[in-house]
Amino acid sequence: VVCTGNPQYNAEGIFKGYVGACVDITDQKQLQQQKDEFIGIASHELKTPVTSLKAYTQVLQTIFMREGDEKSAMLGKMNNQIDRLTSLIGDLLDVTKIQSGRLQFNDDYFDFNQLITELVEDLQRTTSKHQIALELNTTGTAYADKDRIVQVITNLISNAIKYSPQADKIIVRTSLKNNEINVCVQDFGIGIKEDKQHKVFEQFYRVSGDKQHTFPGLGLGLYISSEIIKREGGRIWVTSVEGQGSTFCFALPVNHP
Ligand code: ADP
Repeated sequence: VVCTGNPQYNAEGIFKGYVGACVDITDQKQLQQQKDEFIGIASHELKTPVTSLKAYTQVLQTIFMREGDEKSAMLGKMNNQIDRLTSLIGDLLDVTKIQSGRLQFNDDYFDFNQLITELVEDLQRTTSKHQIALELNTTGTAYADKDRIVQVITNLISNAIKYSPQADKIIVRTSLKNNEINVCVQDFGIGIKEDKQHKVFEQFYRVSGDKQHTFPGLGLGLYISSEIIKREGGRIWVTSVEGQGSTFCFALPVNHP
């Protein structure tokens, strides 16, 4: 039971008592508990089969590759699809967690330059068409949830790759300004109309139009990224010119809060 109330005084200013209301929140609490349980069960039930599927395809791919069997290429494609499924499941679960205020953060110090250098190397391996150039102008440590920051940067670079099918260059720049680490990911792809730019951080929002039809996605990545950056005390924004490309940036405070 949750109660709120105000003290009451008479005309002479003498305290007469309290007037208030009490609300039974048992149902609300139960609903929240059921939601939390669902998140826990769903995470496990959805992730476990996909993880084992991934392990089996990887083993098979290695065997076929060793034997010089062409089927290894098919298994490589299966692996990529499993990765996509894993990331979609992760995004859906993250949204559920955000909505119930249960997105967990394990903030700690980490070497920012090392993190972004390794991440860009990893992501470069996922694309043969695009060249990801990294321009580092940061030094030292950051204080945040490393995995969540990886999630944000991965989302921005994956989008840059996805939404620039005709271009082959992506530039990732980092800099240090006013005690904030700035990260910008620039692409030379389809760009975003000015009146749509502020909407891309909304849940399930996808820019509609002929050009966008062919790109897969749920419209959750930028929403989750902006929630993460906000929770870490930072800002995220976009500048873009339709038909010329987009630059997505975020700023993260360096200091321990
Ligand atoms: P998704 O890519 O799964 O649709 P996001 O939340 O990552 O979801 O992005 C939301 C929308 O913003 C996309 O559907 C797309 O229309 C637009 N968008 C995001 N990144 C870019 C980009 N680099 N270039 C052009 N449009 C983009």
